[in-house]
Parts: sequence; C-alpha cells; structure tokens
Amino acid sequence: MREDCLFCKIINQQIPTKLIYEDETVIAFNDINPQAPVHALIVPREHIDTINNLENENLAGHMILTAKRLSGVLGIQQSGYRLIMNCNEDGGQTVFHIHLHLLGGKQLGELVQ
Ligand code: 5GP
Ligand code: ZN
Repeated sequence: MREDCLFCKIINQQIPTKLIYEDETVIAFNDINPQAPVHALIVPREHIDTINNLENENLAGHMILTAKRLSGVLGIQQSGYRLIMNCNEDGGQTVFHIHLHLLGGKQLGELVQ
C-alpha cells in the first residue's frame, strides 16, 4: 500500500470503484476512460510500480489468465481482444502501479497509441 497511489486507493476502496472481479491476488475494474467497448484493468493487490520491478512469475501468469477468464465473462473471448501493459514514459504509463489492460469489443487498430 502506497499512500499516494491511485490504484492502492482503489484496492482499499478509499476511492469507491465497482469491481468486476477480485481474488486474493488481483482485482479488476473498468477503465474510467475506455478506449474500446470493453476496457478492463487487471491490477495486483501488491504495489509494484512498473513491469521493470515485476519479478513474480506466478503473479504475471495469474494476471494474464485472469484477463483470459474475464474475456469470457465479458463476451469477447471468441471475437478477440488485446492485452497491454505500458512501462514508463515511452510506453505511455500514467499510473505507476502495474496493471494489465484488457481491450476488445471492436476491431482494434494495428497499434494502440
Ligand atoms: P496506463 O496509461 O498507466 O497504462 O493506464 C492507466 C489507466 O488507468 C488509463 O487507461 C486510465 O484511463 C485509467 N484510470 C486512471 N484513473 C482512473 C480511475 O480513477 N479509475 C479508473 N477506473 N481508471 C482510471
Ligand atoms: Zn499502488
């Protein structure tokens, strides 16, 4: 828990946010500024600032498999989806608590800007 971290505040419900999934390791909720009809974020409960400091292979795998399962719940598993993790400035990271974007529900372009 970091006092100044937006996603830690969501995890602690200091910022009330409707969760679409939670377990003991991760939570998931809809992005406030969706870039596609489905745009969810899978966020570990543990505060890790960037992928550069992600070392737990079980956690990395759990985030991806959670996204896969959520794609089924959200109805985009067969139509398809994209998983994105941004890192630091050039990667476009704006919230420094790692998160996996799950995007789908439309044909996505070749690159997300
Ligand atoms: P990043 O650019 O760091 O990869 O992604 C951060 C994402 O968090 C952005 O897509 C942004 O819209 C989303 N976001 C920022 N603040 C909030 C918030 O308070 N609530 C929710 N649900 N999403 C947020
Ligand atoms: Zn945090």
